[in-house]
Amino acid sequence: MAPVATVRPVVRQYKEAFAREAARHARAGGHAIVWEKGGRARLVMPLPKAGDPMDLHYWSLLDLGKSRWKKMPSGPYRGLATAMIPRDCHDIVRRRAQRDAVWPDPQRAITFDCLDCGACCRDNYVELDKDDIARFRHAGRADLLRAPYTRKKDGKFVLRLLRSKRCRHLEEDNRCAIYQLRPSSCSVFPVGSECCLHSREAEFELYDGDPPN
Ligand code: SF4
Ligand code: SF4
Repeated sequence: MAPVATVRPVVRQYKEAFAREAARHARAGGHAIVWEKGGRARLVMPLPKAGDPMDLHYWSLLDLGKSRWKKMPSGPYRGLATAMIPRDCHDIVRRRAQRDAVWPDPQRAITFDCLDCGACCRDNYVELDKDDIARFRHAGRADLLRAPYTRKKDGKFVLRLLRSKRCRHLEEDNRCAIYQLRPSSCSVFPVGSECCLHSREAEFELYDGDPPN
């Protein structure tokens, strides 16, 4: 797998009085965290592309445990997507803004080599969907649905990890041993998403920006 070049949104935080500046940042492709009355935090960002499971805006929401946003019909955020950020994620978004304080522009071009990384294939939770199950069976690999490769959780097939927390299919050189058959949730995982950045931080303390204080 060749290194992947992408452009990711840069996160900034604003007081509510600076909503227009926040909107300008989001219109230029960045993500704005706007602190509102009552300690509420709003994410303002470009509209996620409908039907694109690799959209980085959408993945920023997913990483906050959300999947829905609202297209604002009026006001300073008109035409942009917004979502309220759960309180238990306030520290996460503050940290994203602190990380990105070093980047001057609303977006950042970046290239990652997954073969030098493999962070998202460690200590993860990968559930198989109907298509994955059908693909394994069609390829004559029904064994992938049994131990030692998978376990059942709440009626779902879930990939098993080694004691080291590596995915059982992750080879020493960070290649996926079942790359052509890999689960859908692995194939849509986007390089440069907040989930990717989080995996790199959690596994290897690799920070795309300022490290934590
Ligand atoms: S964490 Fe990101 S860079 Fe690392 S292997 Fe996964 S997608 Fe690639
Ligand atoms: S199946 Fe492959 S791509 Fe998915 S987590 Fe395991 S090693 Fe990574």
